[in-house]
Amino acid sequence: MIKALLLDLDGTLLPLDTDGFLRHYLKSIAAHVAHLTDPKEFVDSLMASTEVMVKNTDKTRTNKEVFWDDFLKRVNVPEEQLMPVLDDFYANQFPKLVKYTSPTPLSKQIVETAAEKGLRVVVATNPVFPTEAIQERLRWIGVEDYPFDLVTTYEIMHFCKPQIGYYQEILEMTGLDPKECLMAGNDPLEDLVASKLGMKTFLVEDYVITRKNVDFVPDYQGSLRDLLEFVERL
Ligand SMILES: [Mg+2]
Repeated sequence: MIKALLLDLDGTLLPLDTDGFLRHYLKSIAAHVAHLTDPKEFVDSLMASTEVMVKNTDKTRTNKEVFWDDFLKRVNVPEEQLMPVLDDFYANQFPKLVKYTSPTPLSKQIVETAAEKGLRVVVATNPVFPTEAIQERLRWIGVEDYPFDLVTTYEIMHFCKPQIGYYQEILEMTGLDPKECLMAGNDPLEDLVASKLGMKTFLVEDYVITRKNVDFVPDYQGSLRDLLEFVERL
């Protein structure tokens, strides 16, 4: 019996091509800091520190702490100079990236249908972004005001996908039983790894990520519309 939906955001609830979106995001953020530092070095540092954050297994440190501890060592811009520029980026430039996504009413219908059914709903997006960037993407699909049980932002989480600790932490925070959870996402590794804990999985194929040597088999698969129909039948 499924009582909770865990929904990935990028390429799942928010239709987008992950690589394409990432490319535009990096280009935009690099341009925004170009007056402070070399844009290419900035992007290289951003990617390197993101990798450190994704691989971190120290559960006493949030993803945000891990990222910034590493990032500030790499970029030679003082924190007090960099922070306001990045805050400004997320407030004023990041919203423009909506044009590289394809929002659909299906997302809101899925969330609302789940609510009508009394299901609990978690936005299980890889917690590598600050709250503002996640809230903004939720706004693009019209669900920014929905009272989710949990939205996994980098400020509060201590693991990233595909670490199993990420899903364990969701269970700890929500008190959910994995057998009552359905994790829906477009990544055969990062999202389907939830099955290791006994969660059911739904591979959303509209913008599915191609991976080699990943052999998780989803319990269900189909388009985002199929996911809506699946939730309607719960
Ligand atoms: Mg995704």
